Amino acid sequence: MLGMVCSLDKLRLDSMKTIALVAHDGKKAALLEWIAQHKTFFADKQLIATGTTGRLISETLRQPVRCMASGPLGGDQQIGALIAEQQIDWLIFFWDPLSSQPHDPDVKALIRLAVVWNIPVACNIATADFIIHSSLYRQGYQREIPDFNAHNNRLTAKDS
Ligand code: PGA
Repeated sequence: MLGMVCSLDKLRLDSMKTIALVAHDGKKAALLEWIAQHKTFFADKQLIATGTTGRLISETLRQPVRCMASGPLGGDQQIGALIAEQQIDWLIFFWDPLSSQPHDPDVKALIRLAVVWNIPVACNIATADFIIHSSLYRQGYQREIPDFNAHNNRLTAKDS
């Protein structure tokens, strides 16, 4: 059944339409309840998620989700790589502030890459609410992609 598919196929990527979702186990119920309340909003979006989060979202919304590996098995890093490739427009990352994670360095790295590449990040329901109700969102907001040429060219062979 299509709605239950957790597809690894590449999905069409549109401006502000590709959303990455990650929720730690202690926050999965909150995320699922929130997305179920906003089913219509998500209906025309391309969704990418860590493995378990993605499977649960696909079952809840009955729409395809591109599932990466489970977070502790590298899924956070895969989503970080997609952010660095400009393939993700915003990140919903419900990390759990009350439990430690075996992949804590990956959690920090994912948030860091979202900041590096200037994508909106919602780490709780209130922020996610603000983003989806933003008039900027409806107007088709184009975020500024930082120019890292100075960083990339900071050294020459002569300097090193
Ligand atoms: P999961 O990973 O969706 O596979 O549970 C989430 C995470 O802990 O990063």
